[in-house]
Amino acid sequence: MLNVILFGPPGSGKGTQATKLKEHFNLIHISTGDLLRGEIKNETPLGVEAQNFMDKGLLVPDEIIIGMISSKIDENQDSNGIICDGFPRTVAQAEALDNLLDVKSSKIAGLVALEVGEEELKTRLLERGKTSGRSDDTDLATIERRIVEYKEKTAPVANYYKADDKYVSVAGEGSIDEIFENLKQVFEALSAG
Ligand code: ADP
Repeated sequence: MLNVILFGPPGSGKGTQATKLKEHFNLIHISTGDLLRGEIKNETPLGVEAQNFMDKGLLVPDEIIIGMISSKIDENQDSNGIICDGFPRTVAQAEALDNLLDVKSSKIAGLVALEVGEEELKTRLLERGKTSGRSDDTDLATIERRIVEYKEKTAPVANYYKADDKYVSVAGEGSIDEIFENLKQVFEALSAG
């Protein structure tokens, strides 16, 4: 199985690139952000709880996320592999993900980090907010809070995988197709082992 973490700050293009990569490599795309928005739309208790955090630009508690990831991994046992988009976002989530895969005799092949400057992130998110219908994309203070959460809690996840020699970084600025070409090469190298 080719299990890859597509990593990077909010607005770095993970969702856009994951959609293209999953087609090309025939992988399952799991996005915790999309899963959470689905729960909110269906007004489930989980969605109601998560929304309080998301609206403020804060991370949703690990227990909620780990439960969600666990059931998604169970549902997709027979796939060619998983693109993890939007998780792990904390070191606790990374440890839990490794354990979940370990019991299935599987593992993470690599963490691929999209590098995008902070000003570009804010511009992209505000632009997305005009059409995405996402309230967390329209307010600059919420966007800035998400970037702070990323720096404080999520950036350490890269070091966690660096320690295992599983970290690769890719430039996340440029055209969508250029970035996709670079990502394809990285994914091919990861699948070759
Ligand atoms: P973005 O990466 O653009 O911020 P996402 O759709 O991945 O967008 O996430 C939106 C929000 O959902 C986050 O700000 C956070 O509140 C919540 N969220 C998504 N994934 C996680 C996660 N793995 N852990 C904690 N919170 C999460």
